[in-house]
Amino acid sequence: AEFRLSDFEKLRVLGHGNGGTVYKVRHRRTAAVYALKAVHTDAALRRQVYREVDILRRAADSNHVVRFHAVVPTPSGDVAVLLEHMDGGSLDTLLRRRGCRPFSEPAVAAIARQALLGLAELHSRNIVHRDIKPANLLINAAGEVKIADFGVGKVLRRSLDPCDSYVGTCAYMSPERFDPESHGGDYDPYAADVWSLGLAVLELHRGHFPLLPEGARPDWATLMVAICFGEAAQAVTERAASGEFRGFIECCLQKESGKRWSVAELLGHPFVAGADGAESERALQDLLREDSHES
Ligand code: ADP
Repeated sequence: AEFRLSDFEKLRVLGHGNGGTVYKVRHRRTAAVYALKAVHTDAALRRQVYREVDILRRAADSNHVVRFHAVVPTPSGDVAVLLEHMDGGSLDTLLRRRGCRPFSEPAVAAIARQALLGLAELHSRNIVHRDIKPANLLINAAGEVKIADFGVGKVLRRSLDPCDSYVGTCAYMSPERFDPESHGGDYDPYAADVWSLGLAVLELHRGHFPLLPEGARPDWATLMVAICFGEAAQAVTERAASGEFRGFIECCLQKESGKRWSVAELLGHPFVAGADGAESERALQDLLREDSHES
């Protein structure tokens, strides 16, 4: 379908990103609700949007990647991307709205499993996300978790891309991305996504970014030291956790990327393997319900 901006009614702002604002909109004729990501005009940013759209198109039949509907032209020449509206918002905002109270372990397991399924769908299409973090994992009222924000994602034309100088959200970057030279100038970008996912999952379980003291506002150097020289996997011991959860985190947060489990291996890990039944469903619904009581 062809869409025009005037076909939509703005309902509210959902969030702000790097290059623009995401709105909740309603299609006037069908009353269908969408998320509309409007991006301000700037040649570099527009390139980034088209790269994101290219990735979303490639992943169009994925169940755990936020659905893309259309590119909508705007009168000013800006572009807007029409996306599936995820009515639970991002996991990062969900956590904050709960006053950073940690998620229950069954909820964390269900989220980890779905995020892994999303990564599996991407990785099987040679797409690396490169910016996995709670702010880029969205949830809806049905308890579906999907990966969003491909602003810095990449379709790999070759298995490795040594010329890639992109620096992502430092906090979730794997150790080898800080020092690619020590890896012969390249690193496994799929394994880097796994590290970020492990850290994101641990953050939901802990209630705050796990590699630093609660509330810390670190500079780049402090983060780099925490990531490259800290014992990431040990951060899990600070809150009571099952052996399965500990094991899972250890598999994700191996400092040496070669020792890290792949997405396919992780999907078979006991922590997530059974996390799709009635109990998981309940845990996610509890999370969403607690949220609506408080907001
Ligand atoms: P950017 O790529 O510019 O960083 P994002 O795509 O991350 O922007 O969007 C910014 C915020 O907007 C997200 O963190 C989320 O809270 C909200 N958002 C983005 N896409 C959706 C969506 N499809 N449904 C609901 N909320 C969304």
